[in-house]
Amino acid sequence: MTRNKDQAAAVLPTLLTELRLPSINRNWKSLTETADRDGWPAAHLLASLFEIEMNERVTRRIQRHREQSALPPGKTFATFDFDAATAIRKAHIMALATGDGWIDSGGNLLIFGQSGTGKTHTIAAIGHALIDCGRRVLFSTTTDMVQKLQAARRELTLTSMLDKLDKFDLIILDDLSYVRKDQVETSALFELIAHRYERHSIAITANQTFATWDSVFPDPAMTVAAIDRLVHHSNIIEMNGESYRKRSALARVGNRHNTDDIVQTIDNANPVGNNPGDATHRPS
Ligand code: ADP
Ligand code: MG
Repeated sequence: MTRNKDQAAAVLPTLLTELRLPSINRNWKSLTETADRDGWPAAHLLASLFEIEMNERVTRRIQRHREQSALPPGKTFATFDFDAATAIRKAHIMALATGDGWIDSGGNLLIFGQSGTGKTHTIAAIGHALIDCGRRVLFSTTTDMVQKLQAARRELTLTSMLDKLDKFDLIILDDLSYVRKDQVETSALFELIAHRYERHSIAITANQTFATWDSVFPDPAMTVAAIDRLVHHSNIIEMNGESYRKRSALARVGNRHNTDDIVQTIDNANPVGNNPGDATHRPS
């Protein structure tokens, strides 16, 4: 059927809405005007319109993935000062942030370090960068995840929850050391680790290295089994050094007297001797 310009303009919005092409719907008027004025070949007009739809679709998808990720907003590489993080190499972290290699093969990432050294910020920045590359990421405190897994087990939906979590290329479990031992809960955490093993990635941050993980899993055998699966294909990063929180608190305070008070307060909250030590050591 041939239509004149006005007749075509009348049906286009309905067709584009029905076909779910919102970006073309917003742009076809101005682009067809340009095409008419500049004598574009029809194929060029079509390609330009579909390109807009495609690009905006990618942007919308990334935005949706970022909302679903529950990543802390603002904890990105744009706000991360590598000069202040002397324990890590920028090149290494940026390579991990592409996801190449380790995410494809379901490898893991373990970040150890004392409180305030930038573990959460680093893993969140890696998560944001992975989302920008089109990957799917879920950020959760380990405690929250354990509670959700436990609730699913009570409702007999643990298996389907584990399957649903498969849509995420990476699950970040922040602050593993804060989980307290409870037979039922933490064995659900083990099931998550076992379920994703060699298929989908997990990243974990922890104040303390493996030697103290006995207090997280119900028994030593499960602790060893969890560590084995996490470490088998893993990158391990240690973020030791002075707390960034402590340093920025100090920088905010010029007054010597107040500074001593703050150091005292932070030191009390983060006692020395909590050094993770060598992360590559595994309990025998
Ligand atoms: P951790 O998880 O190791 O306890 P965080 O990642 O929460 O530490 O860092 C503590 C605070 O310091 C956060 O506000 C974080 O954004 C900030 N921070 C830590 N390291 C850096 C860094 N290298 N550059 C910028 N901000 C940092
Ligand atoms: Mg943290």
